[in-house]
Amino acid sequence: MSESDHRMPDLAEIQRAAQAVAGTAERTPYVISPSLTALAGREIGLKLEIRQPVGAFKIRGAANAVSRLSPEQASRGVGCCSTGNHGRALAYAAAKRGIRAIVCLSSLVPQNKVRAIEELGAEVRRIGKSQDDAQAEIDRLVISDGITDIPPFDHPDIIAGQGTIALELLEDRPDLDAIVVPLSGGGLISGIAIAAKAMKPAIKIIGVSMERGAAMQASLAAGRPMEVTELPTLADSLGGGIGLHNRWTFDICRRLVDEVILLNEAEIYRGMRHLATEEGLMVEGAAAVGPAALLAGKLKAPGPMAMIISGQNIDQQQFELIAAGKPVQIGDMMVEG
Ligand SMILES: *Cc1c(COP(=O)(O)O)cnc(C)c1O
Repeated sequence: MSESDHRMPDLAEIQRAAQAVAGTAERTPYVISPSLTALAGREIGLKLEIRQPVGAFKIRGAANAVSRLSPEQASRGVGCCSTGNHGRALAYAAAKRGIRAIVCLSSLVPQNKVRAIEELGAEVRRIGKSQDDAQAEIDRLVISDGITDIPPFDHPDIIAGQGTIALELLEDRPDLDAIVVPLSGGGLISGIAIAAKAMKPAIKIIGVSMERGAAMQASLAAGRPMEVTELPTLADSLGGGIGLHNRWTFDICRRLVDEVILLNEAEIYRGMRHLATEEGLMVEGAAAVGPAALLAGKLKAPGPMAMIISGQNIDQQQFELIAAGKPVQIGDMMVEG
């Protein structure tokens, strides 16, 4: 797409992205969590990306990528396949610039997310059972309609946009010891790791994924991008592979991510319930994995630690069940804390 397509994002690029996304993405609050701080015996702060206009951090990457389009690319429109929040963010950023957006989704994506994308004026197509099927449709549209594919994570402009979170975090809390990041395709953690480690080399970057389909973790363990089976999970925004032809995020994660923690569904449930009952926050499963890892006793850091509360786009009924401590159905399993 743009010339930055061929360049590894660095701190300067992420600072430039911060200018580009201002006015579309919010500068989100960093708040200390009293309950988690008491539990951990050290400061635990929450970076509230749930306060973004589309309810998730993905607006940062999407806004940055849309800002980089040439007038000619903008006239033909953009497209993506997405587990939901990227599609929603791209639809929002495209509408803001007045350009066409087409979003292809797998049938596993919850209906509330599909509706939200349509309400933003994007064209939605539901294709197959996996990200790969949805991606094939986008590849076809790139050829037939000349649209620009803006992928959810494996792109330098997306990575740079997500990295703007780390600039805000270290401005608010320069002595952070670690940043805990929900991990799927790795765009979020890559951008954060590049910016944070450029500013503060000793900072620890910790990824958290669900056991059910942790593609980046499996790939890091194997030393190359691996395919994993996509399974229903409470953390639906963390579903999907990293792409067998991954160009950027796998290498960045290999170099800069210090640790990856995996959680089972009951642990994720307890993280969501804790945020609901102790912090008054409605978040989706993917966003609760940092607090969930702490509650599960799987996180250690000597000093202040920030957790990215990445999104709030959860089905209302599912949220109410979890907040009330009742079992929820995920695929063919019942999950409870
Ligand atoms: C996309 C997403 C993630 C994971 O981001 P990656 O860049 O794919 O690792 C985490 N949480 C939420 C809410 C998301 O939408």
